[in-house]
Amino acid sequence: MNRDQSRKHFERACRVIPGGVNSPARAFGGVGGDPLYIARGEGAHLFDVDGNRLLDYVGSWGPHILGHNHPAVVEAVQQSLLCGTSFGAPTEAETLLAETIIEAMPSIEQVRMVSSGTEATMSAIRLARGFTGRDVIVKFAGCYHGHVDSLLVQAGSAATTLGVPSSPGVPKGCTADTVCLEFNDLPQVEALFASRPRSVAGVIVEPVVGNMGVVLPECGFLEGLSALCRRYGALLIFDEVMTGFRVAYGGAQARFGIRPDLTTLGKIIGGGMPVGAYGGRKDVMQRISPAGPVYQAGTLSGNPLAMACGLATLRVLKETDPYARLEQETARLARGLSQAARDAGLPHTVASAGSMFTLFFSGNPVVNYKLATQCDTKRFARYFWGMIERGIYLPCSQFEANFVSAAHTPADIDATIAAAHEVLAGLA
Ligand SMILES: *Cc1c(COP(=O)(O)O)cnc(C)c1O
Repeated sequence: MNRDQSRKHFERACRVIPGGVNSPARAFGGVGGDPLYIARGEGAHLFDVDGNRLLDYVGSWGPHILGHNHPAVVEAVQQSLLCGTSFGAPTEAETLLAETIIEAMPSIEQVRMVSSGTEATMSAIRLARGFTGRDVIVKFAGCYHGHVDSLLVQAGSAATTLGVPSSPGVPKGCTADTVCLEFNDLPQVEALFASRPRSVAGVIVEPVVGNMGVVLPECGFLEGLSALCRRYGALLIFDEVMTGFRVAYGGAQARFGIRPDLTTLGKIIGGGMPVGAYGGRKDVMQRISPAGPVYQAGTLSGNPLAMACGLATLRVLKETDPYARLEQETARLARGLSQAARDAGLPHTVASAGSMFTLFFSGNPVVNYKLATQCDTKRFARYFWGMIERGIYLPCSQFEANFVSAAHTPADIDATIAAAHEVLAGLA
């Protein structure tokens, strides 16, 4: 596959943009080599600047559950653009998107729009702290909540040790009130609450983790978090930036029947435009300025173009209800990949939920971050490049979710399984 133009673009970008990219996940660091430059997307496919056609399982890292350039979404954005790009004053589209989100997720009684998932989680934890008058936030290793200072932590040495910064530039003080525990380890959370019963403002969790690869909550884990939060007066925050409108129309909370106090959203609700949102209990949301004293603002929050794009996306999802078919096709793909790895004699495990999946190159079921890090990332890199050579564009890291879109056809899934058989057979 010819990648000359992409290589030229990347060399030029590296001179003026750190690492050549505006977000590190795009840089192919986990697999080695240069990123592909994309010229356009159409349905389930991307076309790069060298003219290669690629079947896309990245979906812009989550937003494109309808595939690229869905006609109804394009039309809505074009109509909105004709009216102007931004007014810094309220527009009806903001209320319409808020109503659509609230209808889909009954735990959300009020919602505030922001411009990214990071902004949503940052604001939600500020609100949880402001509402409870407490400082400690509990998060789980391997869950990613954006590049918020206080959430860029790794676990300390002992279970209840406060988190230490995972990036230079984050002062110790910023993470001093963040506790990082192991996902799916409820006793650890119980012990933390028991030792500091009146300190925890909130527990933030990806209810289905996508950011260490797909990791499912074990039976009772989310229910247990919910019960502990209620018992100790802390807020349960579901970070559904990835899972919202993805693992079900109503997100993971609909799928598992759990009612978090706060929810953060992003990705699909913007349909590919920069949108985030946080919402939940009305008594909590009423603490946000200007209704309440907890400050949060944004010049481009609720941007009309972004609202139009998100609204059109959610409308199509509601009208066409692709979820059952997406889940079936994704499960079929997961089985096919698993069979291909088995035929090749490669230790592996596949996890999927709705239209998210990950093929892990590890023989052990991946239930937490510690187990995720045992994967053979060198083997993953060879798998990744083998699939690229066959026109299949996967996320460029072992520790990411792959996404099937409503534009993927059964023939696309068949072709992907066939390619995986060829690639994996060569990796034994
Ligand atoms: C992508 C993601 C974020 C961050 O969203 P950005 O828009 O990249 O800031 C936060 N939480 C989860 C679960 C995500 O998947």
